[in-house]
Amino acid sequence: MRILVRLGLAAFVLAWIFGPYALRSAVPIWLPFLIALGLELNFFVAGLRPMQPSRPDRGPQDADRERYGYGDDADELLLVREGDEEVWIPYSGEADEEPSALDLSPAAPDRGEPRRVSRHVRRFATGLALVCVLAIVFWIVERNTGWNGLNASTRAEAAARFSEEASRVARKPVTIRCDEAGNYVGAVQHADGVAAVGGELAYLTPERCLDLYRLAYKGEVEFNRTGRALAVLAHEAWHLRGVSDEGITECYAFQSGVQLGERLGLSTDTARRMMRRQVAENARLARASPAYGVPSECRDGGSLDLNPGVADFP
Ligand SMILES: [Zn+2]
Repeated sequence: MRILVRLGLAAFVLAWIFGPYALRSAVPIWLPFLIALGLELNFFVAGLRPMQPSRPDRGPQDADRERYGYGDDADELLLVREGDEEVWIPYSGEADEEPSALDLSPAAPDRGEPRRVSRHVRRFATGLALVCVLAIVFWIVERNTGWNGLNASTRAEAAARFSEEASRVARKPVTIRCDEAGNYVGAVQHADGVAAVGGELAYLTPERCLDLYRLAYKGEVEFNRTGRALAVLAHEAWHLRGVSDEGITECYAFQSGVQLGERLGLSTDTARRMMRRQVAENARLARASPAYGVPSECRDGGSLDLNPGVADFP
């Protein structure tokens, strides 16, 4: 059981680092660590409790009964140590009193109990050490791969490019920062980006910045992820432009995302398909967060159509 929990945590952390992005965005990384710590603590506490059923039977064994002729009424017998010898004597004291409390030999403590406790402490320490090692591995991998693995000048150049693109959408000079420290957005806050409505500065998660960087500088596209990153950048840009309603912001973002994608290197056709997929995803996500669902006017020819004269939407 314990092994399974530990293997489970290791597998989860690996899947989180290398697996599908959906896992990252759905589960904050501290959660499996917290669960693993909780389970280790639970095992530890459970292990400290006396294990009644597995205690050896301290009553006279069958051989003793045969030899000394004890009857079946074993409850009335008491194990007493005299030097090296253990003998059974009839006992008529309190029924619920522990026989071992009447042990006559002062130099014969039950050595099983402290050994069992120290074994549990050791196992608990092993569990804690494993959790710490996994946390360190995670920290190192995250630091050296992904957005944070790029050198500082590359990151600065890419962020300047994102700012330039966001400025076009916002129709004023704005700054996009990639929130490397996770102070504003990220796994804990569980958001892809954040911007003050009508402001000049927005933050994106390093993951979204990396997706945009891969598209703009490497020509690497992963349909859903790239689409989501474009939509997020456009979404924050529309907030900076002054739109506060999340659903309307999403609607505008999907439309701006087409030109944004084209400028970052996609074909018009691909950019359009990507944003249509985002519209479809929006309908699904809106069930969990209704505020982000696009209004019904978000359609070709609807009041939120930025290009009512053009038949394509978005
Ligand atoms: Zn928003």
